[in-house]
Amino acid sequence: MGSLLEALWGFSTNQVLSKVDPEAHTYELGWFSDHGYNDFACVLKDAEWNSDTRSGELLRIEAKSMNALADESKGHFDELIQKLDNEDLLLILIWTWETVDTAISQQVYPYILDHFIGKARSVAFLRDTLHLARGGSFVDRNSCPDGCDPICKHHGEPLNAKGTRERLSGPNSCRAANVSYAANFGGLVRMIKTDSDSARQEFRRNRASYDDVHEYISFIHRNYPDEEVNQYLAEEWKILAENLGVQTGGLAKKEIINLIRERYPDYRDKLRLISEIL
Ligand SMILES: [Zn+2]
Repeated sequence: MGSLLEALWGFSTNQVLSKVDPEAHTYELGWFSDHGYNDFACVLKDAEWNSDTRSGELLRIEAKSMNALADESKGHFDELIQKLDNEDLLLILIWTWETVDTAISQQVYPYILDHFIGKARSVAFLRDTLHLARGGSFVDRNSCPDGCDPICKHHGEPLNAKGTRERLSGPNSCRAANVSYAANFGGLVRMIKTDSDSARQEFRRNRASYDDVHEYISFIHRNYPDEEVNQYLAEEWKILAENLGVQTGGLAKKEIINLIRERYPDYRDKLRLISEIL
């Protein structure tokens, strides 16, 4: 279903692009026919496009989709940051099955609940900083665990805190005993979880500093509200509530959060700056 929704997104976006300025009519989305990382390239309509040299193209788009009710196993963004261009985009669609009552039966159709589109490098930057904050690392070609010499294909490959490779293309000597690779790196929801003070600080610092990072975190937390509950400590929710004028006396963390969400739909813009309020 994900591939179908992504293809329909490409189709609809082309319709929009063709109407933006019919006179100029400059850009369109092109497909990648191979099994490379990206799904689409935004190309110049009247120029020759060479996907090897990137001539004739403006930017690339990677599309991901997640079924809101399923686990996030398919929602993975693990492309290495050095492979991404500044302008490349990441698109994420979150969808669910909706029922329609027809006269004769109950049918379902896929309904897009929410979407994110933003700079792929910004999300990769957040992902990588938190990976390091969790004790993970990235292979350096000068000290590759495989001892590659003279050419190392593993530069930038993520290793987790135990030294296990996170991608199949990581160093061979970094396989775990029972799995070929760990595959936690880049999980769209997992990548913003934190489990230590230093990782939490890193999370808050990046969210406060970069608009794209804030957009991404807000998108995930909007669709997975329990993740937001867990990310921020009871103390932080309490201070946010007080800052917004919400009485917190005798209320549990969950109750405080419910009140904030009910009364202040824009609370995430304040939550973003919680370290400064504290
Ligand atoms: Zn190597």
